[in-house]
Amino acid sequence: MIHPIVTFGHAALRRKAAPVQEVDDALRALVNDMLETMYASRGLGLAAAQIGRAERVCVIDVPLEVEKEACRKANAHIAMPLALVNPEITAHEGKQRNDEGCLSFPEIGAPITRANTVTVAFTDLTGVRREVTASGLLARAIQHEVDHLNGILLVDKMSAMQKLSVAGQLRRLRAQG
Ligand code: ZN
Repeated sequence: MIHPIVTFGHAALRRKAAPVQEVDDALRALVNDMLETMYASRGLGLAAAQIGRAERVCVIDVPLEVEKEACRKANAHIAMPLALVNPEITAHEGKQRNDEGCLSFPEIGAPITRANTVTVAFTDLTGVRREVTASGLLARAIQHEVDHLNGILLVDKMSAMQKLSVAGQLRRLRAQG
């Protein structure tokens, strides 16, 4: 089922997500809904908070074709889509600066500095704890979604100048949210 995506200004986006206690059918159904919702909006990632839910879970689908050559090799072993339950970034390396957007900030994007490579530990949909190491856009998506689970948003990563340049859009979103 496709859910409405809440936008900046909605209180759900600022809550720290609650750890998932058990990977069960209800959680797998939630993940299916999140994937459907993300694909319908052509997003690369979605956190449960973005559909107003409190679970510590996010989904990501970054196709290999959109990665730069070097990252394509680095990420080739990671099957998409990813559903990360209780994810935790355990290592990060290097830096990248590229445009970043968010389905909860429609029409807004800004160059954001992130680690170039991250290792994330998470529980998969069979309840098994796993770890993957990803680079490039996938690493960016993982960092962005884990931020969501901690109530941290794109706007928090923007510089004062970047925020100023989209102040009107942010104000309108906040008024709607
Ligand atoms: Zn987002």
